[in-house]
This record gives sequence, C-alpha cells and structure tokens, in this order.
Amino acid sequence: MSDNFFGEINPPQRLLMGPGPVNVHPRVLRAMSADMLGQFDPEMTEYMNQTMALYRQVFMTKNRWTFLIDGTARAGIEAALTSLIEPGARVLIVRAGRFGMLLSEIAERLGADIRTLDLEWGQVATLEQIEAALAEHKPAVFATIHGDTSTTTAQPLDGVGALCHQYGALSYVDATATLGGMPVKTDEWGIDIVTGGLQKCMGGPPGSAPITISDRAAEFIFSRRKVESGIKRDDISDGTRPFIRSNYFDLAMIMDYWSEKRLNHHTEATSMLYAARECARVMLEEGLQARFARHAAAGAAMTAGLRALGLTVYGQDAYRMSNVTGVYVPQDVDGERVRHRMREEYQIEIGTAFGPLAGKIWRIGAMGYNAELNKVRITLAALKEVLASERNGF
Ligand SMILES: *Cc1c(COP(=O)(O)O)cnc(C)c1O
Repeated sequence: MSDNFFGEINPPQRLLMGPGPVNVHPRVLRAMSADMLGQFDPEMTEYMNQTMALYRQVFMTKNRWTFLIDGTARAGIEAALTSLIEPGARVLIVRAGRFGMLLSEIAERLGADIRTLDLEWGQVATLEQIEAALAEHKPAVFATIHGDTSTTTAQPLDGVGALCHQYGALSYVDATATLGGMPVKTDEWGIDIVTGGLQKCMGGPPGSAPITISDRAAEFIFSRRKVESGIKRDDISDGTRPFIRSNYFDLAMIMDYWSEKRLNHHTEATSMLYAARECARVMLEEGLQARFARHAAAGAAMTAGLRALGLTVYGQDAYRMSNVTGVYVPQDVDGERVRHRMREEYQIEIGTAFGPLAGKIWRIGAMGYNAELNKVRITLAALKEVLASERNGF
C-alpha cells in the first residue's frame, strides 16, 4: 500500500466516558449501514413520518412539528434562533455556562437586541429571577439551556413556558445534553421550541438534531416565509415580517419539506435519519421512565464512587445533571496527564473543561449506551489506579 493511500478506518475500541460523543448503540450503527433511498420514495417519506411520531414521544409532546435538522446539535440551535429572531428583536438569554454563551453569540450574529440573565457558572436561575428579567426586558424570545454540559448543571424548567406566554415571549430550550437521559417535558413545561442531538443520552452519532416546535411558534415562523406558493417575498415594506436570513436553517421551508406538501429543500441525510429513528426506537422500547432511572443510577454511582476515591464533586447535588459529573482535579496530580494515561493505558476517555473551569475539573459522562453500572465501575477503577500510580510514581 502506498504511503499516501492511508489505511482503512479502524478506530481503537475506546470507552467514551466524556461529555459526548459516546459509544453508539450497535443497533444504531447497523441501521446506519442500510442502503440509500430517494428522498421522495414512499418508503423514505414513511420513515420520515415514523421518525416524527417517535420523536413526539421522545420530546413528550403532541407538537405536529417534530422532526430532524440535518447537522450536529448546533444546527438545531441555529435553526431555532435564526427562525425565531428577527433583526433587532429583543432576546433574553440565561447564561450560566459555555452553551448559554453560545446562544448569545448566535443571537448577536442575527442582529438581536440581547439582554442576559447572567449567573455564575454552574448556578441555575430561579423562577423569580426569570420572571423579573421577563418583566424588565419584555423580550420577543426567551432562550436557555436545559443541561449545560460545561457545568454539568440542569436548569429547572417547570413553569418557565407559562411565564414566557404571560410576558408575550416565544421560548427556546437547548436540551442536547439531556434528551434521552433526563425528562424533557416539552408540553408540560410549555416551551415553544426544544432541540436536541444524538451523541449524548440518545446514544447515537453526532450529525442529527431533533427539534420540536409548538403551533404558536410555527405560526410565527410561517409568517416569516420568504417563499410561499412559489412567490418570492423580497419586499418587507408591506408590513409583513422580515423573512428568515438563512436558507439551510429556514424552519418555514424545512416544515414545508417535512409536511405532506414535501416541498423540496435539502437532501435528507438518509443515514442520519436511520440513526435518529433507531435511537428513538431503542429508547422507547426501554421505556422513558426506565431510561431516565438507568441514567440516574449511573450518575449517582459515578458521584458516589468519585467521592469514595476522596475526590470533590463539582456543583450542587440538587441541580446535577444525572448523566455527566464534574469532579475537581486534585491538587497533587496533573489533570491532563491523568486523562492521557486513562486513554492510553485503559482506552477510556474522560473530559476536560472550558472557560472558568478549564484545568479545574474533569467531566465524566455516563450517557446513552454507556449509562451502565459496569462502565461506571470500570472508569472509577481505572481512575483509582492512575491516581495511585501518579501519586506513588510508578
Ligand atoms: C454537547 C452540547 C451541544 C453540542 O452541539 P454540537 O453541535 O453537536 O457539537 C450543544 N448544546 C449543549 C447544551 C450540549 O451539551
């Protein structure tokens, strides 16, 4: 074989216990290797409809508009924000970690009038704080993260949708890190748009972003259509709403594409749709409650095990995500060396951290296919060995 031909893809068998991606469920890998279909083939459109029905259950919603955005989780975030935020519109964003910062960075690109509810990293906003900020800023859109993996903290969302309705705001939640691992109660919370990803608790690969949209939000988004019944709308001086400034992330066009109209937009990412469909099937076969309990048990075992090793767990027990745990790097070891040895000697990946937490904590996940007690124990045992070896110098 010549030097510039390279080898077949043959990755090592790592146990991915970081904040994502995670090892993919074998059934999902098999689904991805199925053959292509034309996107308007009735078999394919039937798979699309089934995927919509499956994700209504995953998102605990009756929303008709529940489908996939092709791209990583960020594609779902960007589609939601691009379609909800008009230039100059006021947006209120909760920022208590890296992904809250991402929401405001995207809103800034969209020319939004940004107001923030800034908290120390790892804190959660109370309903009172959210209400006070809604009353003060009267935003058109409210946006927050559910589980921010950068801080391993989950923002409580009970009552948040009702408050947003009361103050006339459309609400958006990024549930990428929690979907499939913790309850994401779209309808009960009354959130207008929720997006997710596959590579965390859904136990799939990165590359597809499930989304669900309330009728109220869909109506607003359709009022920003650029192209309707073949008529292009370039003039907004007639009092209609400014059209959506992205083609790929134009949710009005994407909804027309997933609807019975099947108006052509992009080529559906066939293999990713197979993956997303199988992730949901695996989840629903297990049962939502059983799945959440499995993640909670794995997270509790990880937290208890880390404490038993004499380590200090980051964050507040009451608001901890059940699927990824932050733990302080002890003063007497080099955090990156430990991660390196975990990977090289045990084939286990654990995560580093960002921003104010960089170098201070490791983030250890137990998500999707990896939210199993045996994998938690293997990770803890390896960490114990590496820590002892680093401290004893052998
Ligand atoms: C992991 C994560 C993402 C990831 O986005 P990608 O585009 O798939 O990398 C987004 N939001 C949150 C809250 C996450 O935890």
